[in-house]
Amino acid sequence: MSTAMADTATDAAEQEPRTFESLNPATGDVVGVHAIDDEATVREAVRRARADAAWWDELGFDGRREILGKWRGVIARRMGELAAVVHDETGKPHADAQLEIGLTVDHLAWAAGHARKVLGPTKSFAGLLMANQSAVVEHRPLGVIGVIGPWNYPVFTPMGSIAYALAAGNCVVFKPSELTPGVGEWLAASLREVVPDRALLQVVTGLGETGAALCTAGVDKLAFTGSTETGKKVMAACAQTLTPVIVEAGGKDALLVDEDADVASAADAAAWGAFSNAGQTCIGVERVYVHERVYDSFVDALVARAQNVHPGGGPGAHYGPATLPKQLDLIRGHIDDALASGGRALVGGEGAVGDRFVQPTVLVDVPEDRPANTDETFGPTITVKKVASMDEAVRLANATRYGLGSTVFSKAHGTEIARRLRCGMTAVNDVISFAAIPSLPFGGVGDSGFGRIHGPDGLREFTYAKAIASRRMKPVMLLTTFDRTAKQDSTFAQLITVMHGRATTMQRPAAVVSRLRRSR
Ligand code: NDP
Repeated sequence: MSTAMADTATDAAEQEPRTFESLNPATGDVVGVHAIDDEATVREAVRRARADAAWWDELGFDGRREILGKWRGVIARRMGELAAVVHDETGKPHADAQLEIGLTVDHLAWAAGHARKVLGPTKSFAGLLMANQSAVVEHRPLGVIGVIGPWNYPVFTPMGSIAYALAAGNCVVFKPSELTPGVGEWLAASLREVVPDRALLQVVTGLGETGAALCTAGVDKLAFTGSTETGKKVMAACAQTLTPVIVEAGGKDALLVDEDADVASAADAAAWGAFSNAGQTCIGVERVYVHERVYDSFVDALVARAQNVHPGGGPGAHYGPATLPKQLDLIRGHIDDALASGGRALVGGEGAVGDRFVQPTVLVDVPEDRPANTDETFGPTITVKKVASMDEAVRLANATRYGLGSTVFSKAHGTEIARRLRCGMTAVNDVISFAAIPSLPFGGVGDSGFGRIHGPDGLREFTYAKAIASRRMKPVMLLTTFDRTAKQDSTFAQLITVMHGRATTMQRPAAVVSRLRRSR
């Protein structure tokens, strides 16, 4: 080939839009073809968002609430249509897709309805020294928020950022997972139906590189949900431009069963928390610690439950396939390792991992230092361990690098045990309940990430605090002037001593007093 021909071929290849396919994980069928957006396209989306951010901000809380209310109506009315897209791209049962959409709509209503109260101007007392001032704080939108979403709850999870960011007055550029791009596009298109000519929510599609491009495209904050490892890459990329990040990176959540617990309810909750959505839930139950007095009855109830839970692609299935094909090897690895290191499978176990579907697996006697107890499995597996007390249960539950959610079943001590668990959220005598309460913040500690979505904290997360101090009258004593006199300085010193001096009077410690007495 001549050089000219080679150049033409290269040009043609460069100009050809790059695409990728979205597949149904239950069947392998292609359900959509999407663009692989490059850096320039992502930057252009951020530029468009910035151009409309001022309009959206100036619309105010009421204007935004009206538009977000209309959007909520569109999503609610066409929930079945969106659920079908979720079902096609994730394989989860239609009813489960509907459940996450319904909860999302409720969050959207809360965020839009509470934005003014949480973010609007609030007066505070300026203090005695500055009594001539009025002090006001309000929370202003950051501008453009980048959202990188996961595939496991492709509506509920990213919308935990998108809805709150929009309600706070920001525009959003959303990069859905490469497994669920159609869901992201559906969401953006549905908001465009309400506001056709403004870039309130744009979707960029592609693989990891498109997400990486979003981190450095000039957004004012980046909200990421996914693995801890990718979360670190996102932080590193964002550090280049001092772009703040929120990281929601999964967990190894524990469920604790006390001796006074309603054992049947605890077993039901453990089964749902572990197996629903094929175990692909960041706040799913992965470990259980059960008081020795109720251990046998709990295990019997959990096994009976697990034996009646079945995955599949049909209407009767309790959950669908593993959405991320590479996850199958990881789940198999955790189960095989658990069995090889002394664990026993009471349900599932060896052979539970098929080509696409994973059978529910209940493991007991797995050493605490094995991956089934230390690493996020993200599959329908659960380990159960007998403990002598709730002290031991709390110690083991906290012995993890993660700290996202947890569950406690106890009639008398639920809240007390919950407070001792080092993690962002705890459900007492229920499972995953905190995620469905819009007024509660959602997020973790440690390797589970940082920052909060949902609730007042979730609204503030997409704003900056703006302090305004306004002089209301002449001060008795003006402190910020070069005309200040020595007399004023002395009055100021006396004032501070009167106001705060007593607070710093040291009590003689008892040990010192007794030493003084002895030395007399
Ligand atoms: P990743 O963390 O790799 O991906 C999460 C999101 O980040 C996706 O949208 C992905 O895009 C994007 N991404 C990937 N690489 C980059 C990058 N360099 N810069 C910016 N964005 C990037 O998770 P996986 O989907 O591979 O899942 C792996 C594991 O992560 C799971 O097994 C599970 O343990 C955990 N996980 C936890 C979730 C949670 O809810 N906390 C959700 C999903 C996964 P793309 O999909 O196009 O690669």
